[in-house]
Amino acid sequence: MKEKEKNNVYKAARESMVARQLAYRDITDERVLDAFRKVPRHLFVPDSSKSSAYGDFPLPIGEGQTISQPYIVALMTQLLNVSDTSKVLEIGTGSGYQAAILAELAKEVYTIEYLPSLAKGAERILDSLGYDNVHVRAGDGFLGWPENAPFDGIIITCAPEKLPEPLTEQLAIGGRIVVPVGSQYQAQTLSVYTKTDTGLVANYEGGCFFVPMRGMIEAE
Ligand code: SAH
Repeated sequence: MKEKEKNNVYKAARESMVARQLAYRDITDERVLDAFRKVPRHLFVPDSSKSSAYGDFPLPIGEGQTISQPYIVALMTQLLNVSDTSKVLEIGTGSGYQAAILAELAKEVYTIEYLPSLAKGAERILDSLGYDNVHVRAGDGFLGWPENAPFDGIIITCAPEKLPEPLTEQLAIGGRIVVPVGSQYQAQTLSVYTKTDTGLVANYEGGCFFVPMRGMIEAE
């Protein structure tokens, strides 16, 4: 198949993903749906998975890690509620797909990945697609990115057993943290914390399953 035909096939797969997996469920934010129409998810998965890149399931991305199911990426993005003036922080860059979605919606995206090889791969693909508002760093996201705080939103795409304290400090008043909280072996709860003048207000959005957050959080 020629390059142009291939791209048309992927575009059709994206449209179908948006209609059947996102809009058909409860993703109603038009800006979020538009971002999913644009970002070429097949470029964020290994070559061997390209043909199933738009399926309704997570996929392996190497090093024992996964890119989440499109619906979960969309749900977390919708819950984060970012605008085109927002500065957001992501913990768990993985493939870079969630970061690209955020880059379509926010002003600046800062993203931290624990595994250097994944950080490098994500940076390469994000650069090649021209996402110059995404900044990738390899390291432990537990400490956040204090030089660029406060953030209007923080999204954690690996599961800590409790909220890392430094991240709550780096959240702006009115901002949200979207995070799957729980252990590797039990159901995790997709949680949204909103920072107010008097502290964090929590909302729970149901069960989910993410790879565990590694590093300093394990000693907490
Ligand atoms: N958002 C990603 C999927 C993330 S999978 C995507 O769109 O593809 C979860 C990622 O969190 C893994 O790559 C894992 O290495 C990373 N991770 C685990 N603990 C971390 C930590 N303490 N700091 C930063 N990243 C972490």
